[in-house]
Amino acid sequence: MDERKQSGPKVSGRRARVVVIGGGYAGVAAALRIAGKAARRRVPVSVALVNPSPLFVERIRLHELAAGKAPRRLELARLLGARGIELVVGHARRIDAAARAVEVELAGDGTAAPGSSAAASSTAGSAAAPARRLDYDALVYAPGSAAAPEIVPGGREHAASVADAASARALHERLRAARPGSGVVVVGGGLTAIEAAAEIAEAFPALRVALATRGRVGEGLSERGRAYVGQALRELGVAAREGVRAARIDAGGLLVEPEAGGAGATGAAERVAADVVVLAAGFRPAALAGSSGLDTVAGGRLVVDRRLRAPEHPEIWGAGDAAAALDADGAPLRMGCATAMPQAAYAADSIVAALAGDEPPPPFRFAFVIQCISLGRRRGLIQRVDPRDRPLERVLTGRVGAWVKELVCRFTVAAIRSQGLLPGPHGRPGQAPRPQSAGALEVDGERLPSGAAT
Ligand SMILES: Cc1cc2nc3c(=O)[nH]c(=O)nc-3n(C[C@H](O)[C@H](O)[C@H](O)COP(=O)(O)OP(=O)(O)OC[C@H]3O[C@@H](n4cnc5c(N)ncnc54)[C@H](O)[C@@H]3O)c2cc1C
Repeated sequence: MDERKQSGPKVSGRRARVVVIGGGYAGVAAALRIAGKAARRRVPVSVALVNPSPLFVERIRLHELAAGKAPRRLELARLLGARGIELVVGHARRIDAAARAVEVELAGDGTAAPGSSAAASSTAGSAAAPARRLDYDALVYAPGSAAAPEIVPGGREHAASVADAASARALHERLRAARPGSGVVVVGGGLTAIEAAAEIAEAFPALRVALATRGRVGEGLSERGRAYVGQALRELGVAAREGVRAARIDAGGLLVEPEAGGAGATGAAERVAADVVVLAAGFRPAALAGSSGLDTVAGGRLVVDRRLRAPEHPEIWGAGDAAAALDADGAPLRMGCATAMPQAAYAADSIVAALAGDEPPPPFRFAFVIQCISLGRRRGLIQRVDPRDRPLERVLTGRVGAWVKELVCRFTVAAIRSQGLLPGPHGRPGQAPRPQSAGALEVDGERLPSGAAT
């Protein structure tokens, strides 16, 4: 099907209604950019954003929260209000795509006004919760992802997580309560697991921290990158169990089995005693698209075409963890705020173009540049990757790496705020990031383009 020929939102004689589901990196960036661009183009539009919490959660810092670092308080009403965007505090329960409406279960009265129960609580969900129906001409689907405790039996009952703010806070309480010498096992060997293990080990040196993973720790990194991660984890006292599969989690730890042919294939299943097991081996995309009858890929991410639109509903754009935007090889892009925000910028520009009657932008393209990994507060790894996210043997390490990672985290929030004002730091939609001319970051003598994927 020719995606350009599909009809998008058409509105005449009234203000267009845009609804954004999700107040994370993708949703907030998209809402601000739509409002800002529409104002500059004089396209009459009203934008409403639905989120269960009145606060913006910096998910990429949740391992820091688990380790005890207080988060910045970022109120969505303040972020969005400056551009006239309505914040609806509640859960989108269903998308009625045929009627172009979203059914929302409100938290309290659905506003973040002081005194409202929505302002105090972060979740909707009481039996008598009031509801609201939001009609839209264009919808941005960006409800993100959550923990996936079901991937290991016993995970729901016993595993801790850094996937959301409440879980990260609960993990912190468990770590604080743990006696010296207690064991903490982080399940997973990817970037989130590495960051969580390092952060916990640095903040709680009296605890025994280990990582248990299939394959190797930092499998997607270069040899140099993996060697540095291994060294940093050893310096922090983190033991790595590689080549094992977590078979069951219970109150006393976890059962690991040797992975077929893996480094840990030494024989029978083994019990690893631990007071706290942190499951950090993947996220589950929001289920809303599937439960609303929209097409999803395996796992539940919304199917989107090369223009990030739901094929059967071109007035719905998907962005971030909950949407299956494709990479250059036709595989879903990995989840990340680095991939979410350019998708949001693209979706926003496409919506404003459609409402203004312009040609749609060229198909979405995305080029990876770097991966940034914090290893506690004093060490970090900046891993240069090729546009398809394959590691190159170029890294920044140590304190410089930690400093760059911190800058990237700060830049992320600054970039969201700037969406309402500027063309954006990720280049124009459909284009790979532009080379940066001055003050560019260098990894091993090579200048990195701006809009670096983290
Ligand atoms: C500890 C940790 C470290 C990470 N580090 C990095 C990193 O270094 N680099 C990187 O690129 N990525 C990193 N990530 C991944 C990154 O955080 C996610 O990919 C990113 O948050 C995705 O953005 P999003 O806007 O799609 O979703 P989210 O940020 O998850 O936001 C989705 C929002 O939608 C809301 N929502 C959910 N369901 C509904 C509903 N039904 N109705 C209304 N609202 C709903 C959620 O409550 C949430 O506020 C990290 C993640 C974690 C947990």
